[in-house]
Parts: sequence; C-alpha cells; structure tokens
Amino acid sequence: MDLSSVGTDVERVIATEEQLRTKIAELAAQVDKDYKDRDLLLVGVLKGAIMAMADLTRAMQRHVEMDWMAVSSYGSGTKSSGVVRILKDLDRDITGRNILIVEDIVDSGLTLSWLRANLLTRGAASVEILAILRKPEAAKVDVPVKYVGFEIPSDFVVGYGLDFDEKYRNLSFIGVLAKHMYS
Ligand code: IMP
Ligand code: MG
Repeated sequence: MDLSSVGTDVERVIATEEQLRTKIAELAAQVDKDYKDRDLLLVGVLKGAIMAMADLTRAMQRHVEMDWMAVSSYGSGTKSSGVVRILKDLDRDITGRNILIVEDIVDSGLTLSWLRANLLTRGAASVEILAILRKPEAAKVDVPVKYVGFEIPSDFVVGYGLDFDEKYRNLSFIGVLAKHMYS
C-alpha cells in the first residue's frame, strides 16, 4: 500500500520503499560477510519482522534457516514493561547455533534484551540482533544491536511490518503516524 492510499494518516515519511531496498541490500551484504563459513539461523520476531525477513533473506547470497517467535510484553498501551511472555516458540533446538534476531524496531530495547538472554540460556553459540529501526530510548538499555537500518526520532511509526492496532503493516514505506489517529 502506498502513501497515496493512506491520506492524512501518515504525517511524514521516514524511509521510502527505495531507501528500504537500498538499506536492506547493504545489511544483507554485511551479514553475508560477517557470517561467511558459519551456519546461520535467522529468528524473526512476529509479526513486525515479516517484511524485513522476506526482503533481507532474498537479498542474501547464501543458505539460511528461518524460524519465528512471537512474544508479548506485558504492559499498558504503547510502553513495554520488559516482562515477556512467549506466544509462539522456536520450532527447533538451538544448541550451538549462530542466531541473528530480526526485529522491526528497538524502542525501549527491553523485549530484545530479554529475548537475547533467553536464547543464550538455551545454548546458542551466538546471538546477534538486526533491527530496521532504532529509537533514541534504546540507548538507555544495554542491548547490543549489531545491525541497524535507520536511527529515528521517538515518534510512533508504522509500515513495512510495523502496526498501529494491527493496521498499516502492509505499507511499502515507513512513516510517522499522524497524532490525530491516536489522541
Ligand atoms: P521495546 O523495544 O521492548 O520497547 O518494544 C519494541 C516493540 O514495540 C517493537 O517490536 C514494536 O512491536 C513495538 N513498537 C515500538 N515502537 C513502535 C512504533 O513506533 N511503531 C510500532 N510499533 C512500535
Ligand atoms: Mg513487535
């Protein structure tokens, strides 16, 4: 879905379809290089990471495995609490695997911080993180995000997997949701 189809719902474009394509290609090349001659399991965090996973893996030039987790962080409204519940777990054992978590956005970083620790306790050989977006808030939590697409301001964004009340995930770009949509 394009900008012309959402009217005034989106007040500003953060990353166009073209910019996303370019950035994903860069990230894919970097991951290819860093994991050369190593096994790699990509773990996507549902549902926000679906677009990033689909595009990233197709831009990579190697075999990868993909698995998915769905987590929900307890908390009210739009702020996460850091207490995480697993809604869908990985299908396979990850002992000794090199894992790259693929996520849409790091906001407080609490969810990812928990997820990374959780995968490490299961015996993964390594756990790194790739996020398409990172907000300034993330700096407060010590979560090592190895690959970041774009650093963005604290505004609430939608598109390319990111939702507001399950809508806008299918926008081909990422934009700031207009305030009148949620206040
Ligand atoms: P946190 O890093 O634990 O605060 O939570 C990150 C999660 O909150 C992401 O995976 C998103 O699902 C959601 N989130 C944070 N910021 C935004 C936003 O601007 N738009 C849509 N979802 C967001
Ligand atoms: Mg999410």
